[in-house]
Amino acid sequence: MVSFRLTGALLLGAAFLAAPALGADPAKPRYGSWGVDETLIDRSVKPGDDFFGYALGAWLREAPFPSDKSRIGYNYDLPDETEREVRRMVEDAAKQPAQPAFVRQIVDYYSAWMDEAGIEKAGLAPARPYLSRIAAVHDKKALVLLMSEPGFAAPIGIGVGADVKDPTRYAVYAQQARLGLPTRDYYLLAGAKYDSIRKAYRDYLVRIQELAGIGDAGARADRYIALETALAKEQWTPERRRDPVATYNPMTLAQLAALAPQFDWPATLAHMGLAGQTRVIVGEPSAVAAAGKAVADLPLEAWKEFLTIRFLSDNAQFLPKGFDDARFAFYGKALNDTPAQADRWKRGIRLLDANLGEAVGQLYIKNHWTPETERLVDEMIEDLRAAYADKINHAAWMDEPTRKEALAKLASFDPRVGHPVKYVDYAPMKVSRTNALANAMAARRFKWDLDLKRFPKPIDRSLWEMNPQTVNAYYDPTLNQVTFPAAQLQPPFFDAAADPAVNYGETGATIGHEMGHGFDDEGRQFDAQGRLRDWWTKASADRYNVHAEALAKQFDAYEPIPGVHIKGHLTLGENLGDLGGLEAAYAAYRRYVARHGEPAVIGGMTGDQRFFLAYAHSWQGKAREGALRSQLLSNPHSPEQYRVNGIVRNMDEWYRAFGVKPGDKLYRRPRSASTSGDPTSPQRRLGPQRVKNTAPFTRWGPSLRWDDGLYPSAGISSRGKIGVGASRVVPAKRA
Ligand SMILES: [Zn+2]
Repeated sequence: MVSFRLTGALLLGAAFLAAPALGADPAKPRYGSWGVDETLIDRSVKPGDDFFGYALGAWLREAPFPSDKSRIGYNYDLPDETEREVRRMVEDAAKQPAQPAFVRQIVDYYSAWMDEAGIEKAGLAPARPYLSRIAAVHDKKALVLLMSEPGFAAPIGIGVGADVKDPTRYAVYAQQARLGLPTRDYYLLAGAKYDSIRKAYRDYLVRIQELAGIGDAGARADRYIALETALAKEQWTPERRRDPVATYNPMTLAQLAALAPQFDWPATLAHMGLAGQTRVIVGEPSAVAAAGKAVADLPLEAWKEFLTIRFLSDNAQFLPKGFDDARFAFYGKALNDTPAQADRWKRGIRLLDANLGEAVGQLYIKNHWTPETERLVDEMIEDLRAAYADKINHAAWMDEPTRKEALAKLASFDPRVGHPVKYVDYAPMKVSRTNALANAMAARRFKWDLDLKRFPKPIDRSLWEMNPQTVNAYYDPTLNQVTFPAAQLQPPFFDAAADPAVNYGETGATIGHEMGHGFDDEGRQFDAQGRLRDWWTKASADRYNVHAEALAKQFDAYEPIPGVHIKGHLTLGENLGDLGGLEAAYAAYRRYVARHGEPAVIGGMTGDQRFFLAYAHSWQGKAREGALRSQLLSNPHSPEQYRVNGIVRNMDEWYRAFGVKPGDKLYRRPRSASTSGDPTSPQRRLGPQRVKNTAPFTRWGPSLRWDDGLYPSAGISSRGKIGVGASRVVPAKRA
């Protein structure tokens, strides 16, 4: 069992506990006079024409992109603040004569990363032991075993995660692996834009090989891209991978041997520390089979090139500046349109978050969590739960057997706020003060060993998939947990001094969104115990699907970049979460109002208007085109503008609050009364209606070892965020 350090933070010197708490005056909200920055509003825009533009127009027009950012807005600015605070804590800790062991690890990891001169001087030496291991591979058997080790690339991923049909225990999973480009579309789509991205990708692969002194780099890059393209063709699309039934294919060793004998399953599992395992759940059988076939069909040298190039690419940031710059020139500039690399210290703090996240979290939490916040958020969560119960009880389209199951699921939601009860103990992770690459490899090994320690024990429900200092939230359908880290519960999202309409419109909607995932097209397939089990009668499911399909069509019609539409089915779960969540948050707000009295008009706005305005502000955000394209092709979250306009236009209460009328651009005809009370479907007629652009994937998958998730395009977005360099390939379902 993993041991946990409970008291480490108490031993710290006072110096790095002295960071000032946010919101110095608890009686005054941080933004504006009631919790929202009204100077961002553009009153020349009619709310019914473009609510996002009305709420944030001044900001959308004027806020500049810093050169190191491809996305800006509250969801990206708040992490900046956290990074600055963590930096101060780490730098202060480094000055202390003695530190607790876990603080020493933080300081050493950060110091090794910051030592640019040392990294430059070491050259390729830190990579040599790993490159030598690749070079020494002499047959396919050794190849497959090396690919199964943490830190080496592979065409499939094997990992450990909750068994979604019996989430009291862990299971072994095998899935298609990530490739060097964000999603298969980048290999397969036609058009000048994609040609130019592929050319930049090739240039990058050539460059890092030349820097490593590898000859014939152009031909190698061509073979490498051909290999990845062949894998991409057989991989499942991100939208197809959202189907938890289709991706649940438990197999015996005999079945695995028939599917993809090239992976020599008993030997590979044993090499990974999973000796004796006789059952593996395969995610995308056809893609895994194709990957196995590619291992057999392509010569050993092609696979050694694959391993070498991927090792250099995945670790370029830990190598001399030439590698790091080349990596950024592709993944930052060419792919995401970001002009400049973030400051080195910021990248160091992000690496700490990814690799020693809960150690940092123990320090962070000291200044960022109060019992008062916990009490208020708990109250809000129970309002949301009651609002969902109301909606389910009044859903005329839902029959009684389904309603009973839905209410049981709602009752079993397990909310967690602030921080874990116990923190990960990083003691077994060997951290060097001088070798940044060795630290990255040690972190990958540590994470895998942690997964192995959990397996095959019963599920540990106390684990967190996010750090306390992460500005985000998530829903885990197998544990039926909704989790809200401390950093998400700060202004403007949550402010104890703000108008309650703001807290319900922002954090209330986030809580509603996460709970809504329990009833989205994917989450609804899991029951109150978190089991993948169809608890819906056919009649109720059919009616649900009509609404869901209509919402998918609505989002399919949006075209944020000319020629690139939102993928209605890829984003369906998030959009259903947003819609159900905002409806529930509004109902929760009315419950609050019923207890405390009708709110006064403030700044000329009613409580309902402030509620919706605050919701729009919680999605303050915009992206450079490259980052937006990557999001549209690969990410389950719609761009912020559509998370606002595409959602509120389906709610009657928004029409009433802002007097939205036929002729307004966001107007939709009301739907018939017979479907009202649907917890997932909106009150407006769904279906495509064009609006011009005016302005991992879920937790039920495992954590992966083959393919340990250092995602090159910088992360899966969460509340629409893309930023921290590392993220699990199959992460929890985030915001
Ligand atoms: Zn979500």
